[in-house]
Amino acid sequence: MTLFDLKGKVAVVTGGNGGIGLGMARGLAQAGARIVVAARNPDKGRAAVTELEHLGTDAIFCAVDVANEASVEAMVQQTVGTFGGVDILVNNAGTNIRKQPQEYTLAEWHQVLDTNLTSAFLCSKAVHPLMTKAGRGKIINIGSMMSIFGASFAGPYAASKGGIVQLTKAMASAWARDHIQVNAVLPGWIDTELTQAARRQIPGLHERVVARTPDGRWGIGGDFAGIAVFLASPASDFITGTAIPVDGGYSVQG
Ligand code: NDP
Repeated sequence: MTLFDLKGKVAVVTGGNGGIGLGMARGLAQAGARIVVAARNPDKGRAAVTELEHLGTDAIFCAVDVANEASVEAMVQQTVGTFGGVDILVNNAGTNIRKQPQEYTLAEWHQVLDTNLTSAFLCSKAVHPLMTKAGRGKIINIGSMMSIFGASFAGPYAASKGGIVQLTKAMASAWARDHIQVNAVLPGWIDTELTQAARRQIPGLHERVVARTPDGRWGIGGDFAGIAVFLASPASDFITGTAIPVDGGYSVQG
């Protein structure tokens, strides 16, 4: 199916060493893309690379702090040095600190905003010249249900994820003429390291998510393989600036 064929393409997946990012990387690898797993933890990074190589593609781990401009530029240089370019960027790296809004320090605010939102700006800006020169590109930003809803324990997180949707629209508008499509994916509640911490901190969260999600379960990383391939492939060439929930119906439940 050439519509979904990613053979020869190069995909950088930030936070691709676990959770949703690794789920997306697996899908992209199965469609033929070569993968750069870009994150901080090298042990998890190497394990992810081994797994992706077993799917029959080339993959490398690239150590990066997505909140640091020099580190992001070095990541893009390493990718170009190894694979020759960047066709697909998945801005997936993220973090959360759960408190009431008045309890955050300024440093904590910046940590969440820089990791979740500024990172997407930095990584997209760094690959833009390559994509413009190539005459095409695909950028996938990861939002959240907190792009739509609020929660008492997610002030900076919700601000960053709301911002991701608006940044997606701005970049989509600016870069459409260069044939670079920019879309956002809004995960529902997904079972990853991030939410395992949330379940420990928020009593009753597990049951509330299952009760509210029409599909009756938490998502898993593998639920993101399909949307990654779709938004990275020619199948989505006339789709840009959207924010697509992948949430088992969580956001449409009245
Ligand atoms: P994980 O904690 O498994 O993944 C987060 C990833 O981000 C890790 O791979 C981590 O790697 C990487 N990361 C964090 N900070 C940095 C940094 N400064 N530089 C580079 N990499 C970094 O959680 P998820 O898979 O759940 O989260 C992935 C994305 O999905 C996030 O953007 C999250 O907000 C979003 N999301 C998750 C939901 C869920 O229910 N799980 C719901 C909605 C959105 P390392 O530590 O090695 O750097």
